[in-house]
Amino acid sequence: MKMTIIGAGLAGCEAAWQAVAHGIHVQLLEMKPLHFSAAHESADLAELVCSNSLRGSGMNNAVGCLKEEMRRCGSLIIEAADATAVPAGGALAVDRDAFSRYITDKITAHPLIELQRAEVTALPDQGTTILASGPLTSERLSAALTELTGNAHLYFYDAIAPIIEADSIDTSVAWRASRYGRGGDDYLNCPLSKEDYDRFVAALLGADKVAGREFEQLTHFEGCMPIEEMAARGHQTLSFGPMKPVGLPDPRTGRPPYAVIQLRQDNRHATLYNMVGFQTRLTYPEQKRLFTMIPGLGQARFARLGSMHRNTFINAPRCLNQTLQFQHAPHIYAAGQITGVEGYVESAACGFLAGLFAACHLTGNSAPIPPEETAFGALLGHLANADPDNFQPMNVNYGLFPPLQGGRRKRTERRLAMAERALAALPDWWQQMLMLRSTAKASDN
Ligand code: FAD
Repeated sequence: MKMTIIGAGLAGCEAAWQAVAHGIHVQLLEMKPLHFSAAHESADLAELVCSNSLRGSGMNNAVGCLKEEMRRCGSLIIEAADATAVPAGGALAVDRDAFSRYITDKITAHPLIELQRAEVTALPDQGTTILASGPLTSERLSAALTELTGNAHLYFYDAIAPIIEADSIDTSVAWRASRYGRGGDDYLNCPLSKEDYDRFVAALLGADKVAGREFEQLTHFEGCMPIEEMAARGHQTLSFGPMKPVGLPDPRTGRPPYAVIQLRQDNRHATLYNMVGFQTRLTYPEQKRLFTMIPGLGQARFARLGSMHRNTFINAPRCLNQTLQFQHAPHIYAAGQITGVEGYVESAACGFLAGLFAACHLTGNSAPIPPEETAFGALLGHLANADPDNFQPMNVNYGLFPPLQGGRRKRTERRLAMAERALAALPDWWQQMLMLRSTAKASDN
């Protein structure tokens, strides 16, 4: 039994490692060093293109929980990170060259993996394939992907608005309503007086922005222009754009305020809200400083801050099924950042799952899905259940997990309880996978 994996980055290497554990032969296709994206520069596999950190290790951070799940289930990426870790306080940071070398050595030494250096320019019509070509997928392959997904479902930039943890929004200030009462009480609305608005726009104009890298000079479409760019067009631009107050009377005065910031429910469990139309390139400290000036958001905790990047990704809730297969081409699985997860660890975790799902199907089994209480399940849930009309990449965070029964715990306690619940739910699922794995290997012998 054989599968092809396109791209030997974090997701592709992890997917290959999980597939060979089921006895599958893997053809792994990587375009480096014949072609490099604008951010890759090493011939080694699983290159970390920017920071050398795989972020927090503690269980109060959902990425810590995700890493622990991966560690317990035999992830190659986490094994390599543990083996090449450098001191970084509470984070898992690595010696990037040693990390990539470790993975390259493991992959090239494995008897079931055939690594070929070649740019893939078309998607195969048949044969189990995992597409793991990353956020900087080569142009020709992107064109092929556009044909598969349709123009409207493949994006080349993310335009991410900040996401706020629901219980940190002051609902004595922000009120629930939709514009003109259409659509019920779906939004939370933060009111700004003229003074609030003037102060906010002035702060926005003076705030520090992240400089785009050369290959990231963005063409701003009207629909996803950063707020600071809109503010620079004129003092009232925001109040006629994403901050327009019309149709939103404040219940305390009966009149619309001078300006409004709308927060839209961002996940099924209503634990996260995004700031509508607030995509931005402000630096993270500046975003925290400015957005906590907004009435109702003084104590806001951000599950994700805004950003705009070059990033190829598909509209996963529209294009993929629950096991990461393209609905119109089920022999092709997607893995890594291209699915709309965000971050090194999340990309590797997604590769981990795609490798397992594809291996199960190749060996004639239906793949068990990780429970939604686990970090693996929460990440998959984002890809399956996020609103397809506003889909944007996402890091793993506890807002994606189902809420705990019985409220009123402190935030850290709540997070630790979610991690405990996740790690308790993991073994049953993993045992099922191990059984399928040993049956597959036994029938192969
Ligand atoms: P990649 O690791 O990029 O792997 C994809 C592989 O596919 C590459 O080796 C590429 O050469 C190959 N490939 C592409 N097209 C083809 C083709 N046609 N044929 C064959 N091979 C092909 N996340 C963080 O957590 N921290 C960060 O600091 C961070 N910085 C980032 C900086 C930049 C500039 C970018 C673009 C992203 C960054 N990310 C960061 C986001 C993301 O975590 C990484 O991009 C991550 O490497 C994604 O993993 P992946 O396996 O999906 O893709």
